[in-house]
Amino acid sequence: MDAEDFVRFAREAVRHPVVGDLIADAEPLTDMVTAHGLVNRRRFFEKNKQWPAGLVVLGDAVATYNPVYGHGMSVAALGARAMRDELDGRGLGADTGRRIQRAIGRTVEPAWTTASGEDCLYPNVTGAGPTRMTLVVRRYVERLTRTAISRPDVAEALIDAMTLSVPMTTLVAPKIVLATLRGPRHSPAAQPPVTAEERSALSS
Ligand SMILES: Cc1cc2nc3c(=O)[nH]c(=O)nc-3n(C[C@H](O)[C@H](O)[C@H](O)COP(=O)(O)OP(=O)(O)OC[C@H]3O[C@@H](n4cnc5c(N)ncnc54)[C@H](O)[C@@H]3O)c2cc1C
Repeated sequence: MDAEDFVRFAREAVRHPVVGDLIADAEPLTDMVTAHGLVNRRRFFEKNKQWPAGLVVLGDAVATYNPVYGHGMSVAALGARAMRDELDGRGLGADTGRRIQRAIGRTVEPAWTTASGEDCLYPNVTGAGPTRMTLVVRRYVERLTRTAISRPDVAEALIDAMTLSVPMTTLVAPKIVLATLRGPRHSPAAQPPVTAEERSALSS
């Protein structure tokens, strides 16, 4: 893929061509770089019956996620925090590494559930298909996302959960469920909220 392909992609493959239009005349700072190996992959180290003393695994070595969710660095940080909390709480001992690994496994769970639950719906995915629960959750999150466009409180809850700043369960707090059931207050805008002056300033 080169810069021209990218502009074409931004103009044709997303909901509105505004980003493509805005970057069309911009000068690329670097060549295009594409990333490979973007699969969701998890190693359940915490389930090992034997665990070597003094070994802890965290970050991408435990799990990687489709980057579209932007979760990898946050989960690595949550894993580091879990390790600190375990060390602060119980100090060093024969079983420290194993305890920390279990705590790290728990920090992986929300991002893993999100990525694997969503991505199993892609048509070319093999293996076990989505469960009924996955489909229900997906329909709920879709409606919640549409609702968030016109409800700042729902948008805030969604952003907080999707950035892993709060537990995913906050998305089923009564206030959020009620707002989601009521649905969006109005239809999504047909055009991006960019004024003619802003568009001309960005283009120049
Ligand atoms: C395209 C893309 C977009 C992403 N976007 C986001 C995002 O928006 N938000 C987000 O949170 N996450 C994102 N991620 C994920 C994020 O980059 C990773 O989750 C994060 O970098 C993991 O950190 P890490 O320290 O575990 O691994 P890494 O960052 O991969 O660090 C591992 C390091 O170990 C080094 N290394 C490997 N083998 C050896 C060896 N044998 N000896 C010595 N050194 C070695 C490597 O060179 C590397 O520097 C994205 C990932 C990709 C691919």
